[in-house]
Amino acid sequence: HAKEGNRGGYSFYSAHMNEHVRKRMELINELTHAVERNEFYLTYQPIVALNSQKVVAVEALIRWQSEKLGLISPVDFIPIAEDTKLIVSIGKWVLNEAMENLNYMTQMGHDKLSVAVNISVVQFYHPNFIEDVKMLIDKHRVDTKRLTFEVTEGLFLNDIVKAQNVIEQLRNLGISIAVDDFGTGYSSLSYLKNLEINHLKIDRSFIAESLDQTSVEIINAILALASSLKLSVVAEGIETPEQMAYLLENGCDFGQGYLFSKPMRLDDFINWSMEKRL
Ligand code: C2E
Ligand code: MG
Ligand code: MG
Ligand code: MG
Repeated sequence: HAKEGNRGGYSFYSAHMNEHVRKRMELINELTHAVERNEFYLTYQPIVALNSQKVVAVEALIRWQSEKLGLISPVDFIPIAEDTKLIVSIGKWVLNEAMENLNYMTQMGHDKLSVAVNISVVQFYHPNFIEDVKMLIDKHRVDTKRLTFEVTEGLFLNDIVKAQNVIEQLRNLGISIAVDDFGTGYSSLSYLKNLEINHLKIDRSFIAESLDQTSVEIINAILALASSLKLSVVAEGIETPEQMAYLLENGCDFGQGYLFSKPMRLDDFINWSMEKRL
């Protein structure tokens, strides 16, 4: 309870602090300690070759089991982690964990599998990013051919020269680059000309629903673009056999979605892949 005369602004603010702001502050408070309290874990969702149904990669997706707030979706805490720059240390935790898990997958017989890791714009542009990535690669001795970094088009709205520089360094390390949520950003497509991108991931908003006409046109345009630029395409959010059949027939090579599997904890993924003999 703010003291009287302790500057009017403060008591005014506390009197009017609404539920939304209070919740956000509580979340930031908890998020600040989440790495040290070991409250994060990664789940893995298979990315399959649509023709053979073989798993070629897994995408690492973070989960936060907060002691105080319960299980929180990345949709609800990643934007706040970006605003507060907490994403820099969280992102580093994700990379470390994903590389450690990649080595475990290798031990369990998945010696060809790639791991895709989401990289936030804030993390990407941080001055220590490349240095941290190199340090972690050395620490875990991972084969960088098996690492993909997923970035969003938002990256290319910022400093395109810097983006080009960072991507070049990642490519020189052997890491592949995927553009995530492709088709939902507001950036021009010209970055595709200058940057060494490997994969496009079609956003699930174009796949979901019953493939209406507009979505189909957009999917076809993305597939044509990718084909002429020699980029591989992953369709996100495949939930039905019909969606899969359409994508396969129209030249989309890879897919990800609940039809194949939801994201799983590491051990569940290993068990799942053993049951399927993948
Ligand atoms: P994303 O990278 O586009 O990941 C795909 C999202 O779609 C995941 O949500 C996944 O669970 C969901 N999904 C996959 N297949 C289906 C499907 O068939 N149907 C439906 N309805 N959804 C499907 P999730 O795990 O909640 O992650 C949401 C977003 O949070 C991610 O979108 C990504 O932008 C961000 N995120 C997740 N983990 C990380 C991380 O480690 N670092 C960063 N920077 N961002 C992350
Ligand atoms: Mg992603
Ligand atoms: Mg996506
Ligand atoms: Mg997304």
